[in-house]
Amino acid sequence: MRGGADFAAALAAHRRFSPNGRPHIVCPQCRAPILLFENLSEQVKGEIADLRRKSRVLAMKALMRAAGCDLAQAKANVLHLRNEESRCHWCGFGVPAGALLSSQCMSVNIDW
Ligand SMILES: [Zn+2]
Ligand SMILES: [Zn+2]
Repeated sequence: MRGGADFAAALAAHRRFSPNGRPHIVCPQCRAPILLFENLSEQVKGEIADLRRKSRVLAMKALMRAAGCDLAQAKANVLHLRNEESRCHWCGFGVPAGALLSSQCMSVNIDW
């Protein structure tokens, strides 16, 4: 599959630019590095997003346990999860499904 090989090459190139081999993006709005946690399952990501609606601290702890990251990284990621109804965590403007940045404030909004 030609498309598959292209994707693998793109992924390899991307990883080379990732510090410590961990793919991340830097939020244009607040400059925090946001890890993509590609190794976490969709189920775990969904659970963390659910927890965040109840308590950010619980969501941070769950992410630290699941991903083995430190508190600072867990905090940065949990803060950048989009709100209910796909609204930007920072400005409240709607963020389309699949989009990573708020078009209003340029904050990263993770879709978990
Ligand atoms: Zn940010
Ligand atoms: Zn925003």
